[in-house]
Amino acid sequence: MKLYNSMTRQKEEFVPMNENEVKMYVCGPTVYNYFHIGNARPFIVFDVLRRYFEYTGYKVDYIQNFTDVDDKIIKKSIEDGVTASEISEKYIKEYFQDADALGINRATHHPKVTENMDEIINFIKVLQDKGYAYERQGDVYFDSEKFATYGKLSGQDMDALEVGARIEMDNRKKNGTDFVLWKAKKEGEPYWESPWGQGRPGWHIECSVMSTKYLGDTLDIHAGGQDLIFPHHENEIAQSEAYTGKPYVRYWIHNGYINIDNQKMSKSKGNFFTVRDILKLYDGEVIRFFMLSAHYRNPINFSKDLIESAQHGLDRLYTTKENLDHLLEHNRVGSMSEDETIAYESLMKYKVKFMEAMNDDLNTADGISAIFELAKDINKLANEDSSTDFLDNVKALFLELAEVLGLLSRDKGSLDDEIENLIAKRDEARRQKNWAQADAIRDELLKNGIVLEDTPQGVKWSRV
Ligand SMILES: [Zn+2]
Repeated sequence: MKLYNSMTRQKEEFVPMNENEVKMYVCGPTVYNYFHIGNARPFIVFDVLRRYFEYTGYKVDYIQNFTDVDDKIIKKSIEDGVTASEISEKYIKEYFQDADALGINRATHHPKVTENMDEIINFIKVLQDKGYAYERQGDVYFDSEKFATYGKLSGQDMDALEVGARIEMDNRKKNGTDFVLWKAKKEGEPYWESPWGQGRPGWHIECSVMSTKYLGDTLDIHAGGQDLIFPHHENEIAQSEAYTGKPYVRYWIHNGYINIDNQKMSKSKGNFFTVRDILKLYDGEVIRFFMLSAHYRNPINFSKDLIESAQHGLDRLYTTKENLDHLLEHNRVGSMSEDETIAYESLMKYKVKFMEAMNDDLNTADGISAIFELAKDINKLANEDSSTDFLDNVKALFLELAEVLGLLSRDKGSLDDEIENLIAKRDEARRQKNWAQADAIRDELLKNGIVLEDTPQGVKWSRV
C-alpha cells in the first residue's frame, strides 16, 4: 500500500517496523464541547485506514488521546459553574455517543492527560536535564534552537518564522518558536505538583508522552488534520526526538480541510456545526459516507445538496443489500450453477479494483465507485432463479468491501410472523388476480408501518 507521507511530501510504499503490525497514533479531541464536523473527518478517515490495515491482515495498535486539561475546558467550566473534570468527563461520554453513531471503532486505548501526569512531568524533566528545556518563573519552555532540525515537517523557513513569532513574543522565551511544556498555575485553575511548582502541562507534550508510552519510541503512523502540522506536530517531533534520540514517526498522514458551503468553517461566520447538530437531520452513516466520498487529502465541501446526494447514494447500496436479503428469504435452489460460478468470479474484479484504490493512498472515493459498480452488476445478476449459494456469496463479497469502509452494517430488522403471513397472503391474492384483497392487505400492512413495493425481483418491504 502507498501512503502520502507529509514529511517526505510523496507517496511511499508502507512498510511497517514489525511485520504484520501497525503502531498508529491519531490526535484526539479536546473535550469541552460536542465535536464539530471538521473533527469528524480525521476520526472517520483514520478509522478506515485502521480497518483497511486489519482487513489486509495487520494487527493495529491504535491510540487516540483525549485532551482533558486545556484553557477551553477551564473556560467552559467557569461559564457552567462546574469543575473542569465534570466538563471533560461529560464530553468524553458525548464523544463516544457521536463516534458510535458515525461507526468509528474504539481505539486500542484512549489515554487522557490527567491519567498520565507523572509520565508528562518526568518527560519534561528529562528534556530539561538534557538541556532542551528551560524554566522561567514556574513555566517550562522547549528550546527550539537546540533542536537542529526544528521545522522539518512543515518545511517552514525558520528565520522568517522566528521573526514573525518574535513580534508577539512573550519575553520570557529565548526564541520566538519556543513553546510551553509546563504552565505555572493561575488562580482558579486545576493544577498538579511538579519540580517547577504547581501547574499544568502545555498542549503539545501530551501527544509525545502518550504516543511513546503506548507505542514505543518510534511509531509507524502519526495522523491528524493538516491544521495540526504546525506547530503541534512539529513540536511533537522536537520533544520526542530530543527525548529518545530516535526518529519519532515513520509516516506522517494528514487529512484536508472541510469547508461549509464553500466557506471556511468558523464560529463567527455562523457556519459552525457539531456532529450532534447534523445527527438530528441525517443518520451517522450518511455523514460517514459523505466524508469517504472524497479523497482524504482533498478539501471537502459540506453542503445540504452534497449530504443529500450522499444519502441517496447510500440508499442505493442498501437497496441492493435488501434485494439480496429478499431473494434469500424466498429462493429454494441450493448450490451454484456453472454460469453462476463464472458470474461470481467476474464480480471479483470489483474487489481487485477496490483494493487498488485503497492501496493508492487510501482512495476511498474510488473504492466507493468500485462498490457501486459491484452493486450494479449484482442487481443485474441476482434474481428469483438464483441459487442460495450464489446469493450468499455475492452478498458476502458486497458486505465485505462495504465493511472495510464501515458501511452497510445496519439491518432493517426482521418482521414478526403475523406480518410475514400477511405479505404471503397478499402474494397469493395477487397470483389469483384478486386485486381488491391484495390492496386491502397492503393497506392493513401500512397501518402497521410496513410499506410494500412490487419490483421485478418480487415484493420488497420497508418500514415507514
Ligand atoms: Zn496531538
